[in-house]
Amino acid sequence: MTSLPDDILLDLRERARFYAELSEIGVPRPAMAAARETAVGPEATGSGGHDIADLEALRDWIGDCRRCKLAGGRKTIVIGQGNPQARLMFIGEAPGADEDEQGLAFVGRAGQLLTDIIEKGLKIPRQDVWIGNVLKCRPPQNRNPEPDEILACQPFLEKQIALIHPKVIVGLGKFAAQWLFKSMEPISRLRGRVGDHAGIKVVPTFHPAYLLRNPGAKKDVWEDMKVVRRLLGGNSDG
Ligand code: URA
Repeated sequence: MTSLPDDILLDLRERARFYAELSEIGVPRPAMAAARETAVGPEATGSGGHDIADLEALRDWIGDCRRCKLAGGRKTIVIGQGNPQARLMFIGEAPGADEDEQGLAFVGRAGQLLTDIIEKGLKIPRQDVWIGNVLKCRPPQNRNPEPDEILACQPFLEKQIALIHPKVIVGLGKFAAQWLFKSMEPISRLRGRVGDHAGIKVVPTFHPAYLLRNPGAKKDVWEDMKVVRRLLGGNSDG
């Protein structure tokens, strides 16, 4: 097995703790062991010896990914899209039916609301930010992401974040916020805090799909976007 750089080892240790917590709340141990095996092989933790210099190289590295069980049910691998030099990045949960069909993140109803948050709320053109997800493949019937899937997919998200290196990341909903905070706390407890992911500020907020069901929570998201604006320094570019 190839040796890993210290920062990756440190991150893996933190994540192992995070997933140990998951196992304590009832994720079966065999699934956890399988997940670790999938994720800790050189393919998943490093880039299998390839130098990932840009998002195009990352796309090549992902290839026709078969690293987790979602491969069988997806139509498209949804990498994410936007400005590769964005100062602001949004991370959601996983592609839904529209995204799986079109190969783009956040293009359904939740995506329309996200566009409004970005363009009407933050006054930033959507194409100036980067939008992606914790998982790159659609879970069947839009069920919640499972720990082995998150583990298998996370090297890609880590690399996307490192390549884009935004100033601020917004974690949309529980799964993105928990992943970014390496915490199992509910989104209601993570909201209102500013986290740090590899030196990048993290602002957790409610998922747009939750807002479609609970429009009363839009005022909370607006408060979170004011924090984002402040962290970005008040400029109108993404
Ligand atoms: N929900 C998400 O979390 N991501 C998408 O891309 C679409 C809906």
